[in-house]
Amino acid sequence: MMKHVFLLGSPVAHSLSPAMHNAAFRALGWDWSYELLETPRHQLPAAVKRLRSENCAGANVTIPHKQTILAWLDGLGASAARTGAVNTIRRSDGRLIGENTDGDGITLALRDARVEVPGARVLLFGAGGAARAVAFALADAGAAGLCIVNRTAANAGILAADLRSEFPDLELAVNRLEQPMETGILVNATSVGMSPDADVSPMPEGWTFPHEAVAIDLVYRPVKTKFLRDAEQAGALTVNGLGILVHQGAAAFKMWTGQDPPVDVMFRAVERAG
Ligand code: NAP
Repeated sequence: MMKHVFLLGSPVAHSLSPAMHNAAFRALGWDWSYELLETPRHQLPAAVKRLRSENCAGANVTIPHKQTILAWLDGLGASAARTGAVNTIRRSDGRLIGENTDGDGITLALRDARVEVPGARVLLFGAGGAARAVAFALADAGAAGLCIVNRTAANAGILAADLRSEFPDLELAVNRLEQPMETGILVNATSVGMSPDADVSPMPEGWTFPHEAVAIDLVYRPVKTKFLRDAEQAGALTVNGLGILVHQGAAAFKMWTGQDPPVDVMFRAVERAG
């Protein structure tokens, strides 16, 4: 039977996930399709209802629903329960189970780029669903400190408190007014800089990229964001969002289908479309 997988979020038109997953389905010779489901906040319950139909194999979830979706699901896998954010929904005996593969995505993208996380001090922009997965993944990988900077300070405070209870030795700071010194890794996990508003960066006025730093942007449209352009100009190593996209997508693909996806096909598809 033809199966459908959906991306729930708003906006979703920029997403490369359909190109990536449909290329993988085609390569395997499957009659499956990955489709965008533009889902404003008030339409979330109706969108979740659609996932319950027999021919739906699962879904991805993106801005702004990664945390609010939890209340509409039948259960959570360990990664989603721990981070409090869902980016993937799989079906199990008719139940909708929330999972989170963004942490796998960043871990594998950093491995590919040979970024050393143990002992690093991280400046993390954002405290939404993606930022939560990134924060837990970097703490798991042995980061020594995390300074969270977010538009809504309360959200950054909640993330810091969740991290503190699991990682009591992690140095944590929230919305510092001055740039933290000794930052080794900077991560943009906000949607700031995403097309069409591509000429903005989450870096506060006057803050600079240390020469030895690594700058990572989860935004992948455009592939080279202002955040990454500024980092490159300052001599920092940069990691764009495409690798994270492919690795989180590959982990989700396996949850929907039970099979390892053709990761090289997925990489080629996002590079072509990106
Ligand atoms: P989310 O849960 O809705 O969180 C959005 C984050 O961005 C929050 O921290 C929010 O701050 C901040 N933000 C939004 N608009 C802002 C603005 N105008 N000024 C300052 N901060 C703003 O979304 P998400 O799912 O975490 O996604 C965040 C970004 O990462 C998106 O661009 C998404 O496409 C990208 N992403 C990419 C990948 C990948 O595979 N490459 C994976 C996951 C996510 P508040 O708390 O103040 O609202």
